[in-house]
Amino acid sequence: MKVLFTGIQPTGDIHLGNYFGAIANWVRLQHEYTTYISVVDLHALSIPYEPADMPGRVADLALTLYACGIQVDKAVLFVQSEVPAHSELTWIFNTITPLGELERMTQFKDKREQFRASVNVALLDYPVLQAADILLYKGEVVPVGEDQVQHVEFTREVARHFNSRYGDTFPECQALLTATPRVLGLDGDAKMSKSKGNTIGVLETAEQIWAKVGPAKTDPARVRRTDPGTPEKCTIWSYHLLVTPEAERADIHKGCTTAGIGCIDCKKRFQANLMKVLDPIRERYAELAGAGRKGIMERLDANGEKCRAVAATTMAEVREKMGLKRE
Ligand code: SF4
Repeated sequence: MKVLFTGIQPTGDIHLGNYFGAIANWVRLQHEYTTYISVVDLHALSIPYEPADMPGRVADLALTLYACGIQVDKAVLFVQSEVPAHSELTWIFNTITPLGELERMTQFKDKREQFRASVNVALLDYPVLQAADILLYKGEVVPVGEDQVQHVEFTREVARHFNSRYGDTFPECQALLTATPRVLGLDGDAKMSKSKGNTIGVLETAEQIWAKVGPAKTDPARVRRTDPGTPEKCTIWSYHLLVTPEAERADIHKGCTTAGIGCIDCKKRFQANLMKVLDPIRERYAELAGAGRKGIMERLDANGEKCRAVAATTMAEVREKMGLKRE
C-alpha cells in the first residue's frame, strides 16, 4: 500500500469543519493506505499559545480522533514532537530551500497579516517542517483541501531539490483532493474556524448546538414565516448537505422555496440529523477519555517509538548521502 501522511494541529476542540473537511476522509482512507496521522504540536508553536495547556490539548485531540473513527490497528497516530527527526530534517531542507519560495506561500502572507506584531521565523518556515513531516515517512499521498495544494507542491519541489543535489531519496508526493467542500462558519463566513468563533464542536451536546444553531442567520429573504427562500443562500442548507439524507433534503428544499416549512423547523431537522453523526462520537469519546485513556496513551507511546524507528532509517540514508558521516 502507498504511504499516506497527514497532520492536525492541537489548537482546541475539533469542529465540523475539521470533521467533514478532513477527519471523516481519513477514517475512510486508513483502509486504503499505510496511514500516518500526526498531532503536529511543533507546528502549533508558531503562533502564541499557553504551555500549560499543550499536554491536555494533545491528549484530547488524540482521544477525539480515535472517537471519530481512526482505528488503532489501521493508522499510526503519533505526536510530532516525540520524533526529533522532524526538526532535524527541517534544518537539512532549509539548506536547499530558496527563501523566495517560502515568501510566496499564500498561507505565510495571510499569517503575516494576522500576527503582524509577532511574525516569527517559524511562520515562514512552516512549509519546510511540513515537507519534513511528509518525507520522513516517504509519504506518497497527502489528503488536502484546495488551500493546502500549494504546500504539497512545495514538498514535491523540496524532494526534487534534494534528489537532484544528493541522489534519488524522496518520492514526489501527490495531493489527494478531498471531495468535501469547505464547511461554512455559523456566521456565514467562508470557513468554520476556531479563531473566528463560528464553530460547532463534534463533542458538543444537542443543547449546546441548538444554542448556536437556533439564532444563526438564514436566507435574509425569509423575513416572515410566509416568505419563500433560496436554500443555496443559507448556511443551514449547506449543513444539510453534509448530514441529511437526499430524500429528506428534497423535501426541505421544496419546503423552503414554497414557504412550506419555517427556518426553526428546518434547523431542528438539521440538528436531529447532525446528532445521529455526533452522538456516537461523543459516547465513544467519553468511553476513551475514561476507562480507555490509559490504553490510548500507551498506544501513542508505542506509535512514537514506531515512527522514531522509521525516521531513523530515513535519516541514516539522508546523512549518508549528504556526507554527514565520520570516517
Ligand atoms: S428553511 Fe432552511 S434552508 Fe430555507 S432559509 Fe430557512 S434555514 Fe435556510
